[in-house]
Amino acid sequence: METIKVRDKEFEVYLEETKIQQRIAEIAQDINEEYASKNPLFIGILNGSFMFASDLMKAVNVPSEIAFIRMASYKGMESTGNVKQVLGLQENVFGRHLILLEDIVDSGLTMEEVIKFFQERGPKSIRIATLLLKPEKLEKDLKLDYVGFEIPEKFVVGYGLDYNGHGRNLKDIYQLKEA
Ligand code: 5GP
Repeated sequence: METIKVRDKEFEVYLEETKIQQRIAEIAQDINEEYASKNPLFIGILNGSFMFASDLMKAVNVPSEIAFIRMASYKGMESTGNVKQVLGLQENVFGRHLILLEDIVDSGLTMEEVIKFFQERGPKSIRIATLLLKPEKLEKDLKLDYVGFEIPEKFVVGYGLDYNGHGRNLKDIYQLKEA
């Protein structure tokens, strides 16, 4: 088993590049069939989704657009430490078919906030594509339309996902090694 060190922690390979790419091709195929004449607007949620967004878009062959947003914790007096706001949207999403792209859905809190933000802006439809889902941790009632892989509760890095800022560049996805 290939292991690597990211900062102070040991990780072992969990999902290899070829497996990730195969699954992304399947998701893209579904999107190509379902969005043939809808000109979808993909919304990548930074930073974690950049590799997933890039590889998925290369396999999508229907007319489409992409934009990116990022989530930031509220600063100042209203801060609860948990509530986040959406930054960076410049496109008009009114009347558009949106496909939100996320690296991983854990509790679902982040995705719930993002959906709320877009629902208020009058899109024609919203669907969610997440590369990874931790079903055991999911607290929110979310309809996740495209899920790459359901994974156990362990922390993962690579393919866009970081450990304290590192490891995003790895081609495979690695799982934290038990001590
Ligand atoms: P949620 O709001 O669904 O609980 O959390 C989603 C966010 O938590 C993801 O966008 C990601 O930034 C982070 N996250 C959750 N699980 C993991 C994990 O196993 N590895 C990494 N690198 N980030 C994770």
